[in-house]
Amino acid sequence: MTSPLLLGIDIGGTKIMACLYDSDLTLLAATSVPTPASEGGDAMIAAACAMGETLALDLGGESGSGLGATLTEAGKAWAETHAGETPNIAAIGVGAAGLIDSENGVVTAASDSFQGWAGYEVRSALQHWRDVPVAMENDVNAFLIAQMANRPQSEQRRSVLGLMLGTGVGGALWLNGGIFRGTGYSAGEIGHIPGFDDVPCTCGARGHLEGLAGGRGIARLWHEATGGDEDTREVGDLARSGDERALALWDQAGDSVAKAVAICQSLLDIDEVVIGGSVAKSWDLLEPAIRRGIEAYPVPIAREVAIAHADDGDDTVARGAAASARLLL
Ligand SMILES: [Zn+2]
Repeated sequence: MTSPLLLGIDIGGTKIMACLYDSDLTLLAATSVPTPASEGGDAMIAAACAMGETLALDLGGESGSGLGATLTEAGKAWAETHAGETPNIAAIGVGAAGLIDSENGVVTAASDSFQGWAGYEVRSALQHWRDVPVAMENDVNAFLIAQMANRPQSEQRRSVLGLMLGTGVGGALWLNGGIFRGTGYSAGEIGHIPGFDDVPCTCGARGHLEGLAGGRGIARLWHEATGGDEDTREVGDLARSGDERALALWDQAGDSVAKAVAICQSLLDIDEVVIGGSVAKSWDLLEPAIRRGIEAYPVPIAREVAIAHADDGDDTVARGAAASARLLL
């Protein structure tokens, strides 16, 4: 038996990504397929297991399964060092959108685009494939776990807010050194707090953070202001070229993030906020506005909060899920 490997699976709205890591969370191999979201939980788990099988075969030197698994440089080195050995998947971690009962490995609630996913028992389905420990996390929790997993002692923080600015706005809380999940596993979901202008939100209500700081919200506001159909990345390019209307939207997004940070600071005494997601890829536009907002909304008696950009690649959710699985070994 070789050294234990961790399989991290990120089940997203458009693709499922599967990644193999060594016990230090070094990425060895990764692959992805479009999410068969309309085909139900069994189809999604079958796709994940097939990818896990492919990754293990590739790493063990039996490539050619046709799913396009790619070994990283570290993976190639691993395969050379362990030639002739069968890769040993010792634990599995799953990160998925929606409300996740992480104690039981069950999807509590999911978006309508996932058929037959709410109520699905992910852990037991995976354990039919490999009888190993399975950890399951909400995707934003997994994102934050990934940020915290391999930090040196000197950079550890007690309490951190994770913000995922993607199509919508997701949040996660790391309190007293671990993920805080809440009574119904929805703790940290800050995208739908009220008090943010009066713009419509994806949830149907108005005035939520997500309407100002989520990708869909920014594109919608841009369309309202100009009639243009540019996406958030393109609105970013326009802001960089000096378009005042585009700049104003990025300022507004950063300002609203700063307000949300002030709320968390007051309530939870966090020491850091770590921000990722597709909208945060325009960090050059977002960061100055967030920092101005942090100055503008000082929180009495609270410590200074560090602002960090999580710019760490496609596999963040899978890596966080694998880090969670590592705790089960
Ligand atoms: Zn909302």
